[in-house]
Amino acid sequence: MKSPVSSVLGVIRVAICLLGPALHAADPAAIGEIRSIGVAAVDITPDYPVRLSGYGSRREETATVAQRLSAKALAIGRDDEGPAVLVTVDNMGVPYTIRDEVLRRLAGKTKVTSDRFAISFSHTHCAPMLKGVGANLFSMDIPAGHLAAIERYTNELTDKIEQVVLAALADRKPARLAWGRGEVGFAANRRKFPIQRIDHDLPVLGVTDLDGKVRAILTSYACHCTTIAFNVFHSDWAGAAQLALERDFPGAIALTAIGCGADQNPAPRGTLELATQHGEELADEAKRVLGGKLAPIRGKLTCRTKEISLAFDKLPTREEWEELAASPITSIAYHARKNLARLDRGETLPTELPYLVQTWTFGDDLAMVFLPGEVVVDYALRLKSDFDKTRLWVNAYSNDAPCYIPSRRVLEEGGYEGGGAMVYYDRPTKFAPDVEERIISAVLDLMPKSYASRPEDQPLFVAKPLTAEGSFTDGVEGPACDAAGNVYAVNFAREQTIGKITPNGKAEVFMTLPGESDGNGIRFARDGSMFIADYTQHNLLRVDMKTKALSVFAHEDLMFQPNDLALAPDGSFYLSDPDWEWDEAGGIWRVDSQGKVRKVAEQMGTPNGIDVSPDGRTLYVNESIAHCLWAFTILPDGSLTQKRLLVKFPDFSCDGMRCDVDGNLYLTRPGKGVVVKLSPTGQTLREIPVLGAQPTNICFGGPDGRTAYVTEAERMRIVQFRVDRPGLEWQLSHQKQTP
Ligand SMILES: [Zn+2]
Repeated sequence: MKSPVSSVLGVIRVAICLLGPALHAADPAAIGEIRSIGVAAVDITPDYPVRLSGYGSRREETATVAQRLSAKALAIGRDDEGPAVLVTVDNMGVPYTIRDEVLRRLAGKTKVTSDRFAISFSHTHCAPMLKGVGANLFSMDIPAGHLAAIERYTNELTDKIEQVVLAALADRKPARLAWGRGEVGFAANRRKFPIQRIDHDLPVLGVTDLDGKVRAILTSYACHCTTIAFNVFHSDWAGAAQLALERDFPGAIALTAIGCGADQNPAPRGTLELATQHGEELADEAKRVLGGKLAPIRGKLTCRTKEISLAFDKLPTREEWEELAASPITSIAYHARKNLARLDRGETLPTELPYLVQTWTFGDDLAMVFLPGEVVVDYALRLKSDFDKTRLWVNAYSNDAPCYIPSRRVLEEGGYEGGGAMVYYDRPTKFAPDVEERIISAVLDLMPKSYASRPEDQPLFVAKPLTAEGSFTDGVEGPACDAAGNVYAVNFAREQTIGKITPNGKAEVFMTLPGESDGNGIRFARDGSMFIADYTQHNLLRVDMKTKALSVFAHEDLMFQPNDLALAPDGSFYLSDPDWEWDEAGGIWRVDSQGKVRKVAEQMGTPNGIDVSPDGRTLYVNESIAHCLWAFTILPDGSLTQKRLLVKFPDFSCDGMRCDVDGNLYLTRPGKGVVVKLSPTGQTLREIPVLGAQPTNICFGGPDGRTAYVTEAERMRIVQFRVDRPGLEWQLSHQKQTP
């Protein structure tokens, strides 16, 4: 048998710099520091018949070559720095098993580690099927002869990826990196749902030698490689783009990665000519970008990975599998039969999927994110708002091809990308609702803080974590911001503490309460001192923020507990006092500016979240167990009158709440996992999911008072989201501080 490997080295190309166009830069030093960079390409077109992946309807093998397939490698960095290698492959999906095997082989002979190794595949649907990807694509068993060819090609591709990496490493010589962003318009959202998002960004990375000649071009575009569906080998628009760029930059090697294009198809599509047309369009735009002003990449390359797991939704029971096995839809029935067979063999079905999140950051110049699988466009758009989009590059279809990766929105909408395609990838069921949150959290953990986007550029009403999971106890409560933008909340790391999170994200214990005291609600008075509802000791505590001196400002044995507190314009506090055990014995207390306590409302159940309207004339208080929201009119002496019901929620609890400057109320709903925004008259304006089931309280801060901070007890952390108008308390404290 002819060894497929021995012939491979002969066709490995490395970039040779002929007299092609040079990158535009008057001063070569302006396009990045000198690095050691190598690039190589290898032909991976099989010379025997093999079944293609991508479409379940093509079940015949093919050996017809309409366009050759290739794998390419870009190696950045000397051995003493630890080289990073990015491989691009013309294939529907390269599984982690190939990556692991190549890494294992490289470990013995190179300095390449998992953090510094990325494989991005083009997702062309006209390349051989690989073992371990889309096992149920055909909704029937693949004949043994076809399986043998698939296995043979899988092994050969593994060899060739190893070889192209070694060739790129061997090719390393002095070079510079620079990048820019263009736009290409042929990707169209393919889902039949009202929300039609797209990402037309085309990031372009240029590698030049010291004379400015182009040696390599890397592009990334968020679109399926599905212009054609013929039973031929073809690298679709990604391959056509590479050919066009290599034609126009003689001697250079072009590499194509794919962005979050899982829900994007090329438009129009259906012919070989259209694949070429899209590729040429992308190449033209890349050329335009390369000919313009590029951003130099000077920073040190730091590569990081985080292995997380994505939970599947509740798995079907045996009875449900049996029902699914009787489905008239072949793909569903086949998938169910396979899983029933697993159960029959005593196997346990997986409840989660391992998922490798990777970031490469070049100092503060450029961050690349690599996400496995078919990632929908929401992720790119989300990351480009969470982080500075002018320095961010998102590659999906990288390092593994486990399945589609829907956002929370796409998961809820359903459809093919939302869960329907899981049967083809042989995953037991759709993902659990927190899939997006897990992935975004991992990227947040990996990315340097210097890449965070300005709050002003972030989307409204989309929550993201501020502190790590478990950074607080499940008693996390009370958030309040001081005028400098620090966030304080109780029970950081352990009970009885007050935690402090600075505007740049540093979290620490600010102080520990003495004796048996334990805090709940926190507020800052106009003079900057902190007030804490000490619910175990029936105290209102005052903290001098300069000296951290703590004193009992008010005490009342008749309170069950002071739970939450609201500050009135006259400097007095209203304290909610829920009666968790006996019905109708709860109430509201007023503590005047001298610390004198009196009861101002009684015969309530479990009053909890509490705040005063912007005009100081209305006190809002909710009741947790009755899940309703009341309003009182505040009389000039601070007494309450005209109690009226604004909202009676049909379900779930109510907890802390705050007003914005317009008097809208943000009310936390434990159990429901949302903050509800209500108009001053109690009309629901929107609900904001907070990435956990148990939001306990909320406050406003950030640079403009428009960042909401929510304490969330299920994941024991603080989450944040941007809002349209500043919080009332923030505005009042800033009026005081900055007249
Ligand atoms: Zn796909």
